[in-house]
Amino acid sequence: MAPDPAVATAPEVARERLAGVRGVLLDMDGVLMLRGEAIAGAPDAVGRLRAAGVAHRILTNTSLVSRRTLSASLARAGIHLPPEDIVSALSATAGYTRDVFAGMPLYVLTSPDGRSEFIGQWLLSHAEADAPGATAAAVVVGDAPDELTYGNMNRAFRLVREGAALVAMHRNPWWLTAAGPTLDAGAYVVGLEYATGIDATVVGKPSREFFIRAIDDLGIGPLGDLVMVGDDLVSDIGAAGALGLRTALVLTGRHGPDDAAAAARGEPPATGAPIVPTVVAPSLAEVVEALAP
Ligand SMILES: [Mg+2]
Repeated sequence: MAPDPAVATAPEVARERLAGVRGVLLDMDGVLMLRGEAIAGAPDAVGRLRAAGVAHRILTNTSLVSRRTLSASLARAGIHLPPEDIVSALSATAGYTRDVFAGMPLYVLTSPDGRSEFIGQWLLSHAEADAPGATAAAVVVGDAPDELTYGNMNRAFRLVREGAALVAMHRNPWWLTAAGPTLDAGAYVVGLEYATGIDATVVGKPSREFFIRAIDDLGIGPLGDLVMVGDDLVSDIGAAGALGLRTALVLTGRHGPDDAAAAARGEPPATGAPIVPTVVAPSLAEVVEALAP
């Protein structure tokens, strides 16, 4: 029977559809955490995955802070994952600039903690970016509430006009914090694209390279032996499904059953082709249960 995305998949059906999965990619926001707190059942579910020795990586667009800081805040919420288990849009962007712009000057808009992911790379200070005739190989935009000021955006704009590549950690429009829906860095990326006429290279989800980076890190193939667990139909489920991974939509975050039904018809939030997750689960706990031997 075809999956019905409008309702949670029955446990025995989920178990069947996830049979043979050997590796798990987990989104963070809306799967493990929401509004700064652990989602019910997530700490236990992660503990079960780790105890069972199931290969896993967190694949998150969260780029406010370093993986070390993310790991510490997850631990405070009872979710124990070392920094090495996390691939963030921030860490992947630092890996990307290390590969593509080795030894070249970069103007990176990120938090002071976020800069720690770029150790060994040449990051321009704001004053250097302001100097007459300043150039950079790339301007990098991430989540950095205190850094995304008019002055810094203007510096970024001028550098891109002078030939710097425009790199975005992601282009998420908004996310949920303890204070409610909150403007994300995507709005600034789109603003720079508009002002410069240059399209940004997006490193985080839904880019294919971001998934490949985490999958290579896990060293598991074929891709059908992996499942992506996420709360976003487009950047988690659609993107992973297009790569050939199995997918589990959890209903603890951004998208609910009505969104899933619409996406299956190819309507928003789907963009273009219909999006149908392999399974729909109330939360991560049920996905981990379905994976248990
Ligand atoms: Mg999410």
